[in-house]
Amino acid sequence: MFCRHSRHKHETETNDKTKDPVCGMVIDREKAVSKSEYMGKTYYFCSLDCKKTFDENPEKYLKKRSSASGHSCC
Ligand SMILES: [Zn+2]
Repeated sequence: MFCRHSRHKHETETNDKTKDPVCGMVIDREKAVSKSEYMGKTYYFCSLDCKKTFDENPEKYLKKRSSASGHSCC
C-alpha cells in the first residue's frame, strides 16, 4: 500500500501558514484573527473563541499537538 505520509506534509508549517492549535485549522499568519504568545512562541488562531480557549488552558492544546506528530503507520 502506498504511504501517503512520505512527506509528512500535514505537520509541516511553512513561513506563511501555521496551525490553529485549538481547532487544527491551517491558517495564514497574516490572516489570523488573533494570536497569543506562550512560552516564547506565538500561536495564531482562526477566531477569538479559539484564542480564548487556548489562553484558558494552553498546555492541553500543546500536548495534543505534539502527540499528533507521531506516526504509528510508518
Ligand atoms: Zn480555530
